[in-house]
Amino acid sequence: MSIPGRRVVERLRQPAYTGPNRCLPCTVLNVGIALALAAVVVAATTPPAGAAVLAVGLAAIYLRGYLVPGTPELTKRYLPDRVLRWFGKAPALPDPGETVDVEAYLLEAGVLVDPPEAEDLELADGVAGEWEERIASVREAPAAAAGDVLDLDEPGVEDRENATVVTEGGLAVADWPSRPALLADLGAVGLLADRDPDWATRGHEEQGRILAGLRLFVERCPDCGAEPELGEDTVESCCRRAQVYTYSCPDCGARLLEIEQ
Ligand SMILES: [Zn+2]
Repeated sequence: MSIPGRRVVERLRQPAYTGPNRCLPCTVLNVGIALALAAVVVAATTPPAGAAVLAVGLAAIYLRGYLVPGTPELTKRYLPDRVLRWFGKAPALPDPGETVDVEAYLLEAGVLVDPPEAEDLELADGVAGEWEERIASVREAPAAAAGDVLDLDEPGVEDRENATVVTEGGLAVADWPSRPALLADLGAVGLLADRDPDWATRGHEEQGRILAGLRLFVERCPDCGAEPELGEDTVESCCRRAQVYTYSCPDCGARLLEIEQ
């Protein structure tokens, strides 16, 4: 491709909606629209004209992430969670009683206690200190620790716009709402492995649910040491908008946990 041609391509390219930021529901919806448009053109004129329309449409989707302007806004507003979940865009709904399961597990493991005089569950004696020590031991090299936990050969940790991502050879394999949230979980893994002989055999999804449940009990921000607070927020991603409860650090702003209302 000539240099001017490449410039045009670069100008058309919208990194906000392509590459790692490409929104699958938006892309599928727009490919469907491009196919429908091409079919209309074929019916009205000739197959080559339809093919040309389809080619232009697919090129636009490839470069810009979408064909119809405003698609991310449209899917945010109109695509039901059920459809988004199918694309992995909506958070998995907790199963009935799931929260209770995680709490029961953490009580059984001796990580949490339910003191009769307290309203809420709390960390068992000594757990907060042990957890903080474990967090301190992974803080300087979270990639290596994540590599051990997730069994990765070329682990990396990247801070992206709204997430901290663990990568394998540069490709994202798992994400957390912030770096402190990742540190909390890396510290908690050792805590749980010491108390649960079956920890290593549990699936990553189950481990993830347990770790997220436990994260709500971290008493100090794993990064700056401030006391995290509960709050509420509206979160927007490429194609959805939701009201969430948050557990985040008031000082550095790191979000530790986000639960959809
Ligand atoms: Zn903080």
